[in-house]
Order: sequence, then structure tokens, then C-alpha cells
Amino acid sequence: ESEFLRLDAAAEEAAVEQSEAPQPVVAVVGRPNVGKSTLVNRILGRREAVVQDTPGVTRDRISYDATWRGRRFTLVDTGGWEPGASGLQASITAQAERAMSEADVVLLVVDAVVGPTATDEAVAKVLRRSKRPVLLVANKVDSESLLPEVASLWSLGLGEPYAVSALHGRSSGDLLDAVVDALPEAPRETGLVEAGPRRVALVGKPNVGKSSLLNKLTGEQRAVVDSVAGTTVDPVDSLVELDGQLWRFIDTAGLRKRVQTASGTEYYASLRTKNAIDAAEVVIVLLDASEPLSEQDLRIVTSVADAGRALVLAFNKWDLVDEERRHQLDREIDRGLVRVPWAERVNVSALTGRAVHKLAPALRTALTSWDQRVPTGQLNSWLSDLIAATPPPVRGGKQPKVLFATQAGVRPPTLVLFTTGFLEAGYRRFLERKFREQFGFTGTPIRINVRVRE
Ligand code: GDP
Ligand code: GDP
Repeated sequence: ESEFLRLDAAAEEAAVEQSEAPQPVVAVVGRPNVGKSTLVNRILGRREAVVQDTPGVTRDRISYDATWRGRRFTLVDTGGWEPGASGLQASITAQAERAMSEADVVLLVVDAVVGPTATDEAVAKVLRRSKRPVLLVANKVDSESLLPEVASLWSLGLGEPYAVSALHGRSSGDLLDAVVDALPEAPRETGLVEAGPRRVALVGKPNVGKSSLLNKLTGEQRAVVDSVAGTTVDPVDSLVELDGQLWRFIDTAGLRKRVQTASGTEYYASLRTKNAIDAAEVVIVLLDASEPLSEQDLRIVTSVADAGRALVLAFNKWDLVDEERRHQLDREIDRGLVRVPWAERVNVSALTGRAVHKLAPALRTALTSWDQRVPTGQLNSWLSDLIAATPPPVRGGKQPKVLFATQAGVRPPTLVLFTTGFLEAGYRRFLERKFREQFGFTGTPIRINVRVRE
């Protein structure tokens, strides 16, 4: 018998799936000292910690798991700011912008005793644009006598204020009911699984040939549709048919626009790249095979893996590559692309059309891997054999045991290992390599989470 212990697989898997499932996010924003962290503690049912009596004390952004009426959500205390830095109002407005983009529900907390301030009004103005529900929380309503002050908060234009006393718990149950009612039915993440053409981003540093390749891919087809993201004036994505399948290429408007040499262009280009990667399911990183791989190339590749997106590496300008350059490139790849040995490489020329037809199959392979799930039974029987043959290295005189593993998620594939001790990075990489040898997963990053049980 191996060291490997079998737990109640079904129950364990269910628990992990629940804990790994993306949860809706509720963000708490507002001026310093209005009682945000007191409210967060109240919601979490803990009185201790976090609250600081010094006004404007910088705190890190912290997320907590919360539950109300059986609904789980992640509560984000947007806490931290630098008092006096670039202006309180600006920093809180930025905080609100970020909360709006990341959260499913936003709570704006104001101090009912003080009434609406100019900063509250500025933040409310930002939040009124939000597509997500915003709840206005009138805090520090420790007694009925403050209710007239609460009424004055209607002026913020965010609907009815929820009068609470975070400190004493007054009416916080009503507020939580409203929060839970405002949560989306399914977490936002599942929006990614929507049907329709799969989303591809084509990225790469300037001049690698992105627009040339896009033109090549779309050029021959009559039925290229510049699709619409909101208006007919500003088409953003393109629907492109490749290999009998329709694909949505993200932000092709940005690719076609000639780059201006204004200052800040590079910043916007990298922001665009980041947004396109985030919006995509699979990313083609285009590299210029005729030139040495650069830091910028590697940064882009790394950001795709870090974002958990499927990846295809396309080496363009292959028409310019001779024997000698080819050998150089092999060495550059060995040295530079160590993070992504699993990515398929396609050598293309946007100029001549060489091997461009190989992109669609590579995209399909990467997406299949991205979506792939290994059943728990299969995963554990493979893992127990592997670990019996090559156990984790001893640390501090103890041998960590891997008790159980499950693939808790896809897009990207995410493994959770339950262990009795820390697994070194080297051993985790070993497991990943063996896992790929056994199950494939070409073209997708894999995440491995280790849960240590004491
Ligand atoms: P934050 O900076 O917005 O996170 O505010 P804190 O949660 O740190 O609270 C600032 C101060 O307001 C602390 O002294 C809290 O005790 C106080 N406070 C918070 N909520 C209430 C409340 O409902 N009533 C009263 N009277 N004081 C409160
Ligand atoms: P982008 O900035 O990434 O969109 O790059 P462009 O598509 O504008 O291409 C930059 C330059 O590289 C242009 O002069 C293209 O003609 C040239 N180019 C693009 N693809 C190829 C290729 O496969 N071979 C060669 N020789 N030149 C290419």
C-alpha cells in the first residue's frame, strides 16, 4: 500500500468545488472614518481586528469570505489610501472606479452624523454611472433621532439610504438582505462560458506584423464582419472565419489603427494588450522570428500565462529566417520561453501566407486543453502511483504526504492538492510536468494549489 490515503472522494470534491467556485464580489467604498471596516467586521460577525481608531490609517485591500442567508460572497474592504497624497477626493474616486469594475455589488458608506460631504458627492457621481447595483449605507445611525439626517442622503442620487449602526449592529440584517438580493444569480465569471464564437486576442510588440496577419486572415474572405460593441460607429471586435469556424478577434480596431508617435502611446498600447488578454479565452502572441526575442516579448507571454489564458506562440516573418537565424532562435526559445514549454509554436509569414492555416488548429487544441477536466478518480490513481515512485522530498525531518487531489476548475485547469506539509516549488513543477505527460493540456497554463492540513 502506498502512503496515499483515500478520503471520502465525493464529499471532498464537492467541498473543494464549492470553495473554488468564483463567488460574487461585494466592495465597500467610502471616505476614511465613516465606519467601513466596522461594517465589514459586523458583516463577518467578528468584532475584533482591522478597525483602527486613527483616521485615515492606510490599510491594505483585504478580501473576506462572507455568508448571509446561505449565499456566499467575497467582501472587499477597499480600505487603503494615502492620506494627503494626490488628494483624498481623487484617490477615493479612483477606489470607487476600481470597485465598480471588479465588484458585483458596491456599498457606498457615508457618515449619517456628518451628512453628505463634497467627497461623498463626487464618489456618488462616479457610482451613479455604475451598471452594477450600488447600495447607499448611512452609518452611525445609533438612534432613531438621526433618521432626519438619513433622509438628507437621498440627495446623493443613489436611492434609499440603508440606515445602520455598524458599531451596534442596528439594522445591518436589513442591509445584508438587500445585498444578497442584489447579488447576481450566477457569479460574473460564468459569463465567460457564454456561447458564441470563441474569443481570440492577437497581441505582440509593435511591428511584429499583427495588422498584416489580421489582414491575411481576413483578407480572403468576403464575409468579414466588423462586429459591434455598443454602437455601429465604433466597431471593436472582428468576427473571422478560419478553418470553417467563426472566431471573435478582440479589439481589432486597436490593431488596425496606425500607431501615433505621441507620448504615452506605449502605455496605452500595453493597457490595450492587457485588456485584450483579459477579454480573450485564447491569445496568439506574435513574435518576430527575424529578430532576437526581447524582454517585451517575454513580458507579454508571461502576462498571458499569469492571466490564465490559453496560448499559441506564432513566430512571424518566417520568410526572413535562414538556417543560422533558426539555430539562434532555438537557443533564444530554450533560454527565454521556459515558463511556457507547453505552448504550441507555429512558424508563419503574414507576408507570404506561410503556415497561416495552422493557427486555427493550434487555437482549437489550446482551447480544448483550457476546457479539459480530469475526473477525480483517474487523477488520484495516477497520482498515487507517481507519488509511490517519487515521494515529495523530506523537509525538516518530515515527509509531506499528498492525501488527495482534485481538479477543482477549468479555464484554466486548476488542481488542488491536499497535503500534510509544504510541497517545494521544484516538486510542484515535477508534478505539473508529469501531469502534462499523462493528460496532455497542450496550450494552457495549469494552476496548482496546495492545501496543507495540520
Ligand atoms: P473606516 O475608516 O471607514 O474603515 O472607519 P472605521 O471602521 O475605522 O471607523 C471609524 C470610527 O468610527 C471608529 O472609531 C469606529 O468605532 C466609529 N464607528 C464605526 N461605525 C460606527 C457606528 O455605527 N456608530 C458610531 N457611533 N461609531 C461608529
Ligand atoms: P504591427 O505593428 O504588429 O501591426 O505590424 P505591421 O503589420 O504593421 O507590420 C510591421 C512591418 O512588418 C510592416 O512593414 C510589414 O510589412 C512587415 N511584415 C509583417 N509581416 C511580415 C512577414 O511575415 N514577413 C516580412 N518580411 N515582413 C512582414
